[in-house]
Amino acid sequence: MATLYLTHAAFLKHDTGPGHPERIERMRAVEKVLSQEDFDGLTREDAPEADVAVIERVHPKKYIDAIRAAEPKEGYVHIDADTVMSPGSWEAALRAVGAGLRAVDQVMTGEVQNAFCGIRPCGHHAETARAMGFCLFNNIAIAAQYAKVAHDAERVAVVDFDVHHGNGTQDIFWSEKDLFFASTHQMPLFPGTGAVGETGVGNIFNAPLRSGDDGERFREAMETRILGPLQEFAPDIIFISAGFDAHVNDPLASLALVEKDFAWATQKIADIAHLRANGRIVSMLEGGYDLDGLAGSVDAHVRALMDAGA
Ligand SMILES: [Zn+2]
Repeated sequence: MATLYLTHAAFLKHDTGPGHPERIERMRAVEKVLSQEDFDGLTREDAPEADVAVIERVHPKKYIDAIRAAEPKEGYVHIDADTVMSPGSWEAALRAVGAGLRAVDQVMTGEVQNAFCGIRPCGHHAETARAMGFCLFNNIAIAAQYAKVAHDAERVAVVDFDVHHGNGTQDIFWSEKDLFFASTHQMPLFPGTGAVGETGVGNIFNAPLRSGDDGERFREAMETRILGPLQEFAPDIIFISAGFDAHVNDPLASLALVEKDFAWATQKIADIAHLRANGRIVSMLEGGYDLDGLAGSVDAHVRALMDAGA
């Protein structure tokens, strides 16, 4: 079965301004790598705009309205120190959510085996009523809730290997025993959460790594703290918060992962997806700020998704 790739030209219009690491060129780098002949087998679709009513299942209407109203007619608006909107950001935010919803529809109905959403803005730092860390809406939490409501998924898991802790997703999942959140991340580092002791209702699994840790430490953390609980949780679908800023060349962090570590993690998650979840995986792009590191890591990740569906 195929792997679905969702993206949209609207992601090139969300402009964070000069010198911002979460920049338009990231999307171009992803698009370029996935337009290679090796990826001809991908099923490609434009990311649709999400229905605001679906976003309201995670974010209060007042917050959503405030984000919509904050979009400037020209120039830039800072939502906080790191999070910026430009003309076009609202549409990009709706399509970033919409990519996940469409991926859930196609994966849950068996039209495709798994999906990769090449999107921006990212989502995992967004809390229910607070934009943060380049994120406006929590794309993956909204998609996870949607899998439960629209497709009767009973248990939904998110594995987050972005170098930053997915504080927003953890916050939204905190007291929901049918939602599972597991994260590897550098600590200490923005946003400051993600200690081992943060466990929710037994559904949160944090595996912090130290500055300088390489692929070996990453794999050990995945194997000892995340993959076992994930398999035991027996999810109906697995989401991946696929940030590639744990890459050795990333300018925002100091872990030392390389492309093959992301391929390894993807394959391990896919093995559990095959055992427990009919192979269903929806992967959504989060961070990754070295353009070559991002491109190479997306190449490795999507290849592993395609192999898992073959
Ligand atoms: Zn990150």
